Amino acid sequence: MFFCKQHLTGVNAERGAGQPAGGSVPGGAAGNGACLSVGSKLCSLWVRASFVAKATAFLESHVQRLMQLLLQIATKDPLNPIKQDVKKGKLRYVANVFPHKGYIWNYGAIPQTWEDPGHKDENTGCCGDNDPIDVCEIGSKVCSRGEVIKVKVLGTLALIDEGETDWKIIAINIEDPEAENYNDINDVRRMKPGYLEATVDWFRRYKVPDGKPENQFAFNGEFKDKDFAVNVIKSTHEHWKALIAKKTDGGEISCTNLTVSGSPFCCSQECAKATVDAAPPCKAANPIPPEVDRWFYYQKN
Ligand SMILES: [Mg+2]
Repeated sequence: MFFCKQHLTGVNAERGAGQPAGGSVPGGAAGNGACLSVGSKLCSLWVRASFVAKATAFLESHVQRLMQLLLQIATKDPLNPIKQDVKKGKLRYVANVFPHKGYIWNYGAIPQTWEDPGHKDENTGCCGDNDPIDVCEIGSKVCSRGEVIKVKVLGTLALIDEGETDWKIIAINIEDPEAENYNDINDVRRMKPGYLEATVDWFRRYKVPDGKPENQFAFNGEFKDKDFAVNVIKSTHEHWKALIAKKTDGGEISCTNLTVSGSPFCCSQECAKATVDAAPPCKAANPIPPEVDRWFYYQKN
């Protein structure tokens, strides 16, 4: 019933896409925007992976567990590279909110999904956050940046982030040695005690060090099961299909792609290569500022 594991090899970090130089990861990899290449062919991370609308999905990982770089798919840049977020001219890092250290899962997105900011979610009463849907992958392996893995969908959490619907899918890598033991959200509760509670706590407080209020949740912060999560993925996939077909106006979003036949945004390899060649070259990674190591302590409400 599963598709073959599909790894996209060779993240092309030779060229950035207009971001200030900076960001660094252990090992010294550059933090500039990176487009994805499969062999010698370019593609968009948002569009590339096949979509599976059953209980499995592809995850594009952009943040490794324990990492603090705040990376994301740059939806407004041509070919949607992974880039470190920049706020007020400064590279963004996620804070260590005690007892959490960086991200506590592999964090990524499901390609070919979009949380439509013009669509009010019937469950949350809030519109989408204008991004592909996010995934917390709970397996034991720390994924590489840009790695595409196949995951089992287990459940979902409905975060309301600054008034926007921001679904978090909970999933496990199907290659994980324990994957067969995980089939629904209750298996996580049973076999990884405290992990779901820590996940809610993480999302509730991760922006507090930036001076923001605690985030809210629909369903009182309760996780929904696998079937519910699959329906959320399906509906965000429908929103993405409307976006890529230009049936919905995506505003500043770049829908340029190489693989969706019939999409008015579909372009040739030559055109994509010209876009990448025109981007500024990748510079050396900046060192991580020492204040990123700081811990933040809060009284829980
Ligand atoms: Mg999101």
